Amino acid sequence: MKGFDFHRPASIADAVALLKGKEGAKFLAGGQSLLPVVKLDLAQPSDLVSLAGLSDLRSIRVDGDKVVVGALVTHDEVNRSPEMRAKIKGLAELAGGIGDAQVRNRGTIGGSLAHADPAADYPAAVLALGATIATDRRRIAADDFFTGLFETALARDELITAVHFPVPQAAAYAKYGHRASKYAVVGVMVARTAGGVRVAVTGAGPKAFRVPAMEKALAARFAAAALDGIAVPPDDLNSDSEASAEYRAHLVGVMARRAVQACS
Ligand SMILES: Cc1cc2nc3c(=O)[nH]c(=O)nc-3n(C[C@H](O)[C@H](O)[C@H](O)COP(=O)(O)OP(=O)(O)OC[C@H]3O[C@@H](n4cnc5c(N)ncnc54)[C@H](O)[C@@H]3O)c2cc1C
Repeated sequence: MKGFDFHRPASIADAVALLKGKEGAKFLAGGQSLLPVVKLDLAQPSDLVSLAGLSDLRSIRVDGDKVVVGALVTHDEVNRSPEMRAKIKGLAELAGGIGDAQVRNRGTIGGSLAHADPAADYPAAVLALGATIATDRRRIAADDFFTGLFETALARDELITAVHFPVPQAAAYAKYGHRASKYAVVGVMVARTAGGVRVAVTGAGPKAFRVPAMEKALAARFAAAALDGIAVPPDDLNSDSEASAEYRAHLVGVMARRAVQACS
């Protein structure tokens, strides 16, 4: 592991300023994705800018018809939050299924979204719930956020500050997880809202994606049987030692049905 300079700013402005003009500088949140790659020398940051001092980013609050989750809220806090359980139980349960207790105690929602691991759970949630990702400079619709494998619309020095989740009528997540890490081999979140139904898949492809054919069928009839005959083509799906592209395509259908059933 190469040496790096460590910073612990006390404000969002200072954190962002520390990344400006430094190509090798990175934000550090829970460290659950960044530190393993630094330890393996797969990333060699010149500076690590810890977000630990930004206490404004640690709250979960209900704001009208939205639940606003600060970027530094941990997966465990989302899972245990009474506000989240009351408003978006499916999201609280998704957070409780991430990794293990240590990962959930350290890992943050902002870090997970910025990292954009194709097998992470939150990408399905932000897409299905039609969330908005707030940063130090703008708001980004979830539909525009994930741009590729480990790639997002964020600028290199842009800091996620919060995620705004509209409260759905019902939402649930079903995952076929990796046996050791619990990362999604395939995870599907279904959300039913006044404006329609959204179905989002993670783990299956290079980035999370929605399934318009399933959304249309469920908008007409919100029942697992409405998905009969609707299949996701395996052509662009991942294939690895956990599951072939064809098996992932099959799992999308199975997890979508389970999520619909869990909504009722
Ligand atoms: C053993 C293990 C099992 C896991 N299992 C799962 C799982 O089942 N499901 C799942 O979804 N995830 C899983 N994870 C990943 C975990 O959820 C991480 O917590 C998460 O991916 C990254 O969050 P973090 O706060 O640790 O971010 P960090 O590791 O600190 O940072 C990750 C990246 O995001 C950037 N970043 C951090 N915060 C911000 C911010 N606010 N704004 C902009 N950029 C930022 C950093 O610069 C870095 O590039 C697992 C991890 C481990 C180690």
